[in-house]
Amino acid sequence: MPLIVLDGIGKRYDLGEIAVDALRNVSLAIEPGESVAIMGASGSGKSTLLGLLGCLDAPTIGSFRLSGEEVGRMSSSRLADVRCRKIGFVFQGFNLLPRLTAIENVELPLAYAEEPAHGRRNKAGAMLKRVGLADRMNHFPSQLSGGQQQRVAIARALVNSPDLILADEPTGALDSSTGREILELLCTINGEGTALVIVTHDPGVASAMRRTLTLKDGNIESDSRFLESADVSESAELSQGGQPHLQVVPRP
Ligand code: ADP
Ligand code: MG
Repeated sequence: MPLIVLDGIGKRYDLGEIAVDALRNVSLAIEPGESVAIMGASGSGKSTLLGLLGCLDAPTIGSFRLSGEEVGRMSSSRLADVRCRKIGFVFQGFNLLPRLTAIENVELPLAYAEEPAHGRRNKAGAMLKRVGLADRMNHFPSQLSGGQQQRVAIARALVNSPDLILADEPTGALDSSTGREILELLCTINGEGTALVIVTHDPGVASAMRRTLTLKDGNIESDSRFLESADVSESAELSQGGQPHLQVVPRP
C-alpha cells in the first residue's frame, strides 16, 4: 500500500478580495521508504505541499490518504497523534527550543506521544548517539554549531520512529560541507526504510533523491525518477504507470 496518495488536491488561500491557488489538482503517490525532492521557483507551492503532507494544514479540495486512511476524516486528536508518531519534521532554521538542552529537545516528541518518563531519556540519548552527538547531550542549542543543531533536529524527528521525514531546505542554512554531512545522514536514515521528502533549491541535494517533483504555479510540472540502471523494460513499465507527469531519467 502506498504511504501517501494525493488525488486531485487543491489548496486555496482566501484573502478576502483575492484568492491564491497555491496547489491545483495535484495527484501523486509516495511509496514507503521512497526519497523525493520537491523543487520549483519561490511561490510555486513547495511549502504548502509539505505542510499538507505533514498534516499541518488541510487541502481545500481533494483526497489525501496516509497509509490508506483519509486524513480529512480524522478527528483532531487522531491527527495530532499521526503528526507526532508517523511524521518527523526537519526545518531550515532547526526550530529547536532554546531553553531546552539537546537531549530535552529530543525527548519532547516522546512526551507528546505519552511515552513513560523513565524511557524517554534513554531513547533520546540513543538517538543523539545515532546522529553523532553523544558528547553534546547537555548543551543548549546556542552552544552548538548549525550542523550540530540540525543533527539534534534530525534526532528529534526520528525519535518516535516515523514512517516519513519531511524536510524543508534542511541544508539551506549550512555551509556546503556541513550540508553534505546532513544530507548523508538523511540518506542513511532513508536507506534504513524511512520515507524522505525534501524541499530544496539545490540540484545536488535533489540528485541524492531517487525522485524529483518539480512544481510550477501549484501544478506538478515534472515527476522524474532516477533508476539504478537505465533498464529498458523497467522504463517501459514505469511509463505505462498511468502517471501523466512521469519521466524516466537514467542515473548518470
Ligand atoms: P514555496 O514554498 O514554493 O515558495 P508556498 O507554498 O510558500 O511556495 O506558497 C505558494 C503560494 O501560496 C504563494 O503564492 C504564496 O504567496 C501563497 N501562500 C502561501 N502561504 C499562504 C498563506 N498562509 N496565506 C496566503 N497565501 C499564502
Ligand atoms: Mg517555501
